[in-house]
Amino acid sequence: MTDQSRAELPLRAKVASSLSKTAAALSRAAGRGDGSVIGGWLGMKIDPDLLRHLAAGRRVALVSGTNGKTTTTRLTTAAMGVLGDVATNSLGANMPTGHASALARAGHTPYAVLEVDEHYLRQVIEATSPGVIALLNLSRDQLDRAKEVAMMAGLWREAVRDHDAHIVANADDPMVVWAARAAAHVVWVASGQRWHEDSWVCPECGSHIERPPGTGDWYCTGCDLRRPTPQWSVDGDAVVDPSGVRHPVALQLPGRINRANAATALAVAAEFGADPAQAAPRLAQVASVAGRYATVHKDGRTIRLLLAKNPAGWLEAFDMAEAAPTLLSINARDPDGLDTSWLYDVDFSPLHGRRVLITGDRAMDLAVRLEVNEIEFEHVTSFAKALAAVPPGRLEVIANYTAFQDIRAELNRVN
Ligand SMILES: [Zn+2]
Repeated sequence: MTDQSRAELPLRAKVASSLSKTAAALSRAAGRGDGSVIGGWLGMKIDPDLLRHLAAGRRVALVSGTNGKTTTTRLTTAAMGVLGDVATNSLGANMPTGHASALARAGHTPYAVLEVDEHYLRQVIEATSPGVIALLNLSRDQLDRAKEVAMMAGLWREAVRDHDAHIVANADDPMVVWAARAAAHVVWVASGQRWHEDSWVCPECGSHIERPPGTGDWYCTGCDLRRPTPQWSVDGDAVVDPSGVRHPVALQLPGRINRANAATALAVAAEFGADPAQAAPRLAQVASVAGRYATVHKDGRTIRLLLAKNPAGWLEAFDMAEAAPTLLSINARDPDGLDTSWLYDVDFSPLHGRRVLITGDRAMDLAVRLEVNEIEFEHVTSFAKALAAVPPGRLEVIANYTAFQDIRAELNRVN
């Protein structure tokens, strides 16, 4: 594709782009969110190729997966900053309308890093011709079952096979490996995978996937699908690059999973020619992401908010939470999924030995689940009561989607 500066956008794309920005500004002024979705939607009504037109001339990275894509997009944007200005959909509007709006708003930039909803990956690849695609993980979200996970992996596989983008992929997720290895050029990152429940069956041949305990290795017992040797990995607080050089990363974000996300970010930036030694210090700029991981001080308590949207996310959150009183909050409204049976797919035993409080619309479902794991808990009817029940010091909060939003709103009110 020829380099096309913003000034050379086709007339229809120019009108659509400026309308998209105006609509977004109007929506913000009316207090209806950041407006990126409505703005992009309007723009794409006028120019269905708007995303393609706005992406042309930029070197684009896409980031997709069930969990961690917002955070990894932020980290990748920070890392790529060493190369030049980067457009990004940092507010998590991760479908094509959100991408169009983000690019329109950013104006001309040499680079773009876009978080992509996993269902839209193919469409966004076709529209943006990315240079690099990061594939993080695939697991069930809400009511999706393992079968849908394998189906999604199949769609990814076709999408990356038909394009020449460089792939940066998680070597520890068999579904991701199977999808990514269809591509011509793949860089593997040892990102880890705590959640195994959606990848016991090989997507290639249907045989059992074996995971020798304590090795981190995995392989299919029926075909040649196995864990590739990763070029990038995490060692303590450092990311190790393909030549074996350690790059210390001082992240503000908690947990092993975010150090793995940092490794992915550096790997993506390196594919565009960034020097990881220069890019690594920039990762420390990323603090909370849309309120996730935010630390709030209130009444002598230091409260940290962790969002967990699905079973794999709960396991990662247990890993991130420090050994301190922990409040779990669960709702089952539309955005969360109405069924809470997934609670039985998650091992709550990492919470043994700490003080656990529970709240939310579906606290009773959580209570039954914790009883099964023989974990003691206290039920509180509101976040304010949880705050009053714990001594000054740290309080970890792990909540699913709408419960998380409720607590954020409550914190804003009390602040
Ligand atoms: Zn197999």
